[in-house]
Amino acid sequence: MAKQPMLKFVHTAKEMPQKRDADVRSHDFNEIYREFADEKAKEQASRCSQCGVPYCHTHCPLHNNIPDWLRLTAEGRLQEAYEISQATNTFPEICGRICPQDRLCEGNCVIEQSGHGTVTIGAVEKYITDTAWDMGWVKPIKPATERAESVGIIGAGPGGLAAADVLRRAGVQVTVYDRYDRAGGLLTYGIPGFKLEKDIVMQRVKQLEDGGVEFVLNCNVGTDISFDAIRGKHDAVLIATGVYKTRELTDPGSDAAGIVRAIDYLTVSNKLSFGDEVPEFEDGTLNAEGKRVVVIGGGDTAMDCVRTAIRQGATSVKCLYRRDRANMPGSQREVQNAEEEGVEFVWLAAPAGFSGNPVSSVTVQKMRLGAPDASGRQSPEKIEGGLYEEEADLVIKALGFEPEDLANQWESKDLETTRWGTVKASFGTHATSIPGVYAVGDIVRGASLVVWAIRDGREAGDAILRYLENQAAVAAE
Ligand SMILES: Cc1cc2nc3c(=O)[nH]c(=O)nc-3n(C[C@H](O)[C@H](O)[C@H](O)COP(=O)(O)OP(=O)(O)OC[C@H]3O[C@@H](n4cnc5c(N)ncnc54)[C@H](O)[C@@H]3O)c2cc1C
Ligand code: SF4
Repeated sequence: MAKQPMLKFVHTAKEMPQKRDADVRSHDFNEIYREFADEKAKEQASRCSQCGVPYCHTHCPLHNNIPDWLRLTAEGRLQEAYEISQATNTFPEICGRICPQDRLCEGNCVIEQSGHGTVTIGAVEKYITDTAWDMGWVKPIKPATERAESVGIIGAGPGGLAAADVLRRAGVQVTVYDRYDRAGGLLTYGIPGFKLEKDIVMQRVKQLEDGGVEFVLNCNVGTDISFDAIRGKHDAVLIATGVYKTRELTDPGSDAAGIVRAIDYLTVSNKLSFGDEVPEFEDGTLNAEGKRVVVIGGGDTAMDCVRTAIRQGATSVKCLYRRDRANMPGSQREVQNAEEEGVEFVWLAAPAGFSGNPVSSVTVQKMRLGAPDASGRQSPEKIEGGLYEEEADLVIKALGFEPEDLANQWESKDLETTRWGTVKASFGTHATSIPGVYAVGDIVRGASLVVWAIRDGREAGDAILRYLENQAAVAAE
């Protein structure tokens, strides 16, 4: 008898989270949902009208063949659905969980456009690949032949890992360097476990490790090893370092204790999901329990902070954003989720200062939207006299990220950067100004999305293979 899909999680990663504080609720939900997952996935997949103008496909950065795998899922042909899905996406179960589908595939579903509610494409994609893992359909990485060339990848986020997958499958020797103690980049230490369970990320890291990718962790390039040394060790190099410089506040009192960076807060929370002991959590510095929390910012990072603070048991969580709801950069779905969980949004509000050390309140400046600027976006303006105090024991700064100055940090003046500080790389090949050096993901695009980093990584992997072949041809002449 054919093996039936099992409706349970399979933990295969070497490094399994021991403690799941923050993601318990989402797991409970998934476990209940999973009893009906097969039925639900089929029901959703059969809603696809096979419209023939698949805007979902066009608006997916990976151009996934969505109508095809929906049709196969509706017909119960899950293994074939998986084969098609994985052909264009290195980590479909990850994208299915955390892509902002409302802005990508699902937002452009013809059924959504006609007012009948989108097919839940992301949930079906997640279901197909989770089932593939459970059923053993996900094949190990086994190159047909080994090649002598080696590639050094700096950064183990989705961009670096997607490229590692392409290169290793082609038999190239791949070493991935990362300054964190675990691979995965923001998949591991940025995005909270209630959106993306950590064993799902570690399962992919293990697949790469088992396939022969070498990970050199706790290795900060520029400090522990120079960029030039990495170039000297490998035939080609890929920079996939992401963007980590936090935009800071300059208002009076903003250096008080209790005012923290979003990335530090989320990293600690994610480390707890692995069962790590984290002193900054234990001593309360980066723990929202029993606190009045104010998060400043309106992007997806701010949404992750407010939702994490709720899960940690904050007494109140408020999110200050200087524009209104319609003009916030974060996903509307995330705002709705946060509101349902008890977060209060204070629109048209910006910090003007902080009292106390440790912080005890935020001085809030009320704003209004003025005339549109050159980009067409209305600029926030202060309302004269519109100041009030908002009590707070923990203030989390989630104002966005900028690239670090790699050319200077790595003493590599020939690495061209843009006026925004991102690395200049060619569209399509991702080649930088230095021959044999490529760059992908947020360090090229600025803060972006996982799915774009995966696309870049896949493309760069292919471009590096062509480069290695050209080099071999030149050497043979
Ligand atoms: C809190 C948060 C939530 C997010 N949520 C979502 C979401 O829900 N959906 C979505 O699509 N996107 C989300 N994003 C964006 C997404 O995570 C990024 O766009 C994506 O991870 C970028 O991938 P990357 O490979 O370019 O870089 P990263 O994932 O940032 O990985 C870069 C890696 O490089 C390493 N590194 C950096 N410098 C060095 C160095 N000098 N030496 C060695 N290693 C180095 C870092 O340690 C890191 O592991 C979120 C971002 C944040 C901050
Ligand atoms: S990768 Fe993202 S955008 Fe593409 S189909 Fe999957 S969820 Fe949608």
